[in-house]
Amino acid sequence: MDKKFNKALKKIAMPELEPDVRNKNFEEVSLGYTVEMAINEAERCLNCKHKPCVNGCPVNVRIPEFIEKIVSKEFEEAYSIIKTTNTLPAICGRVCPQETQCESKCVRGIKGEPVAIGRLERFVADYHLNNNSKKTEKPHSNGIKVAVVGAGPAGLSCAGDLAVLGYDVTVFEAFHSAGGVLVYGIPQFRLPKEIVEKEVSALKELGVKIETNMVIGKILSVDELFEQGFKACFIGSGAGLPRFMGIDGEGLVGVFSANEYLTRTNLMKAYNNKYDTPIMHSSAVAVVGGGNVAMDAARCAKRLGAEKVYVIYRRTFDEMPARKEEVHHAIDEGIIFKCLSNPVRILGDKDGRVKAVECIEMELGEQDSSGRRFPYEKKNSEFLIEVQSVIMAIGTSPNPLIRNTTMGIETNKKGCFVVDDYMQTTKDGVFAGGDAVTGAATVILAMGAGKKAAKGIDEYLQLKK
Ligand code: FAD
Ligand code: SF4
Repeated sequence: MDKKFNKALKKIAMPELEPDVRNKNFEEVSLGYTVEMAINEAERCLNCKHKPCVNGCPVNVRIPEFIEKIVSKEFEEAYSIIKTTNTLPAICGRVCPQETQCESKCVRGIKGEPVAIGRLERFVADYHLNNNSKKTEKPHSNGIKVAVVGAGPAGLSCAGDLAVLGYDVTVFEAFHSAGGVLVYGIPQFRLPKEIVEKEVSALKELGVKIETNMVIGKILSVDELFEQGFKACFIGSGAGLPRFMGIDGEGLVGVFSANEYLTRTNLMKAYNNKYDTPIMHSSAVAVVGGGNVAMDAARCAKRLGAEKVYVIYRRTFDEMPARKEEVHHAIDEGIIFKCLSNPVRILGDKDGRVKAVECIEMELGEQDSSGRRFPYEKKNSEFLIEVQSVIMAIGTSPNPLIRNTTMGIETNKKGCFVVDDYMQTTKDGVFAGGDAVTGAATVILAMGAGKKAAKGIDEYLQLKK
């Protein structure tokens, strides 16, 4: 029988909660494909010989192969194919910027929309999580202990790959919960925490031990881990140190870093009355920045009851680094965008609380080193926005704690660990990857780095035998 082919130029739309409903709760916005929708979308794939989409994926998921298995309704087989290269598919299917990766290379995108690779990956991963009851078999242990610092995507993928190779892996995580930014940063309405918990449980079934509330550099140092019998260590401590603008008024009550605001909201569940996590409920909030972090903070503020939420961004929509889908979701939910604007100071009332943010209009000049047009202030164009909270989402850098407490480990000017081609740092037996090496980046790049480091650690330990 000839293969059915779907000629539709557009992706099969994904059902979503209505904007006016979802902007008042923390339920997941995108609802996922049904079996029928997934098969219809999978039938848009041409199964191209040269597989350009695979080259667009940082971990080279075998895309046409897993899509073909969807067409033939072999969903578990599709899952097994994805899992050979991607440790966390239910997460990547939800948060990866596919539009600039695999989907940007898809041949169907030349005339029409590319195949919805991310949505199909999510469908397959969710199908597996909801229907598979088989326990993962624990690999035979080789008894060699490896420590992983940080339970974000870099640390978890490194731990998973090492466990499969038989290593005795312990992950040390500073927070009370594993997942890194996936649990403390990305909100429930974009990535339900249950999904992260399920992926973490699968790692535990492989034998990975996770010790939470363990701040390495305070409770134990990296050097002490080696004294305790660990033969190698991977550092995936991320880039959680927030930056501020250095303008007047940043010390006022009501000014937050996006990290603090999102951690209180997501990890510490400030949105849920059953938890007593304090958070400021303001009727007007300004979020400064144009990345995913800014979109998440703005959409959380809206859900926490703010009537007016402004995103203040110094360039235009075209340069905005946030995923397009997230920007559209934010617009639909009523977020007000003030592009070509930049804060110059934050004004407070007599009690030291934020009452307004003063901004200046910007205009774009020539391209700078980032490849984007540089924003310049327009003279005498200051204006005020009345708000009670300002959330800074202008970037983060790695926390210096591990560098300062580990002998012989080097970082660059940005505070990121220096690594070689095998992801080994300047300290023997200590490897690093993810945001701690690149600065703030993406989930899939962190995961890819964790996998590469697992390979490097295995080679290093094999040579030591
Ligand atoms: P992290 O996820 O930061 O994990 C590091 C872990 O190490 C944390 O759990 C931390 O508590 C722990 N740790 C730190 N120091 C220590 C210590 N001394 N001892 C023990 N543990 C320690 N990327 C996307 O691809 N798509 C998105 O949509 C997206 N949205 C984002 C939204 C937000 C709000 C944020 C903040 C980031 C977003 N990103 C997104 C970026 C992405 O989440 C990160 O690039 C990725 O999580 C980096 O992974 P990592 O494992 O290197 O670090
Ligand atoms: Fe399918 Fe697009 Fe990949 Fe071709 S490029 S195999 S159409 S997903």
